Amino acid sequence: MQGRKVCDECKPPAPTHRRTTKERGYDHRWRTLSERLRDELEECVVCVARGKLTSVAEHMHHIERFEDAEHLRLDRANLVPVCQRCHVEIEGMGRMELDGFLEQLRKEAE
Ligand SMILES: [Zn+2]
Ligand SMILES: [Zn+2]
Repeated sequence: MQGRKVCDECKPPAPTHRRTTKERGYDHRWRTLSERLRDELEECVVCVARGKLTSVAEHMHHIERFEDAEHLRLDRANLVPVCQRCHVEIEGMGRMELDGFLEQLRKEAE
C-alpha cells in the first residue's frame, strides 16, 4: 500500500494552492457540496468501521472515478468521506469491494 497515490479528484480543494480549481475539475458546485458534506459527515467511514477513534474525513473519495463517471461527481451515493490515511487504503476499490472491506472491519472490531 505504501507509495500508492490517492486519485487527484478525491482530494479536497486546496485553497492554498495557486492553480485554478477549474483546471483540476473542481468548480463552485463541487466545492460547495464537498464542504457541506464534510460539515455534515465529518468522520472517516473506514475509521468508524474499525471502531477506532474516529478521524475527521479530510477527503471525499469518489467510488466511480471522476474520469470514468463525471456525472457522478456530485452524486452523494458515489462519495465516501475518509481520512487521508484510509483514503490510500480504499483507493482503487470498487463499490462491492469497499462494502466488503468495511464489513470485514466491522466484524474484526466486534
Ligand atoms: Zn480513516
Ligand atoms: Zn480516492
